[in-house]
Amino acid sequence: MTGFVDKWDELIDWKKRWASEGNFFIEQLKARGVEKVLDVATGTGFHSVRLIEDGFETVSADGSAEMLAKAFANGQTYGGHILRVVQADWRYLNRDVHGTYDAIICLGNSFTHLFSERDRRKALAEFYAMLKHDGVLILDQRNYDALLDGQYGNSHTYYYCGDEVSAEPDHVDEGLARFRYQFPDNSQYYLNMFPLRKNYVRRLMREVGFQRVDTYGDFQETYQADEPDFFIHIAEKS
Ligand code: SAM
Repeated sequence: MTGFVDKWDELIDWKKRWASEGNFFIEQLKARGVEKVLDVATGTGFHSVRLIEDGFETVSADGSAEMLAKAFANGQTYGGHILRVVQADWRYLNRDVHGTYDAIICLGNSFTHLFSERDRRKALAEFYAMLKHDGVLILDQRNYDALLDGQYGNSHTYYYCGDEVSAEPDHVDEGLARFRYQFPDNSQYYLNMFPLRKNYVRRLMREVGFQRVDTYGDFQETYQADEPDFFIHIAEKS
């Protein structure tokens, strides 16, 4: 995983990634008057730095100390920002992160890393508890429905960083989606993910207490137009 992350970060030009992701989630936050944001899936810091650049008061959490170290360094590289980082597992978030937030973001297809329903429910309940009474959770995920239902066949290739990195499903069933990532130097990495169905995630969000869940399709990384490659869920607490 470390090798994968380093290669990924080497190739990705953050300014280009910002441009390709657009302003969707930033606009959603601004429209709600959000000031204080908890990024629960900081990774190497891409979304946290973007939030800080846009003037949000941001706390950057991740379960991996190694990722947070990279994020901290990236914050300094991109704009000289000092990230406020906290190591915390989503399932015990309230234990390690303090305060309440106007918004929580969990982006970059991160929620797919939880493999048990119990953990998914616990994590969402922790997110819910850390939000203010009118807070919002923004969580994105790959469109696994299209893969599971065969709309992409098994040959759909996702491209990142221009055409430099490709990701192809290696194995997909209701309990596991394994992707093969290919880098320009021909090295390959396999990542296991849980194939979240869109309506399943929406249901879990409602069941932990979110009153309203809107889901948007995101076509940005696709080369074909029928089905979005990503969904973005916006879950409101009141
Ligand atoms: N948002 C960033 C981006 O898009 O570049 C990073 C996303 S990265 C794919 C997912 C991150 O989620 C990883 O850094 C991983 O350590 C973190 N993560 C996965 N499971 C977690 C958990 N249970 N608690 C806390 N962090 C977790």
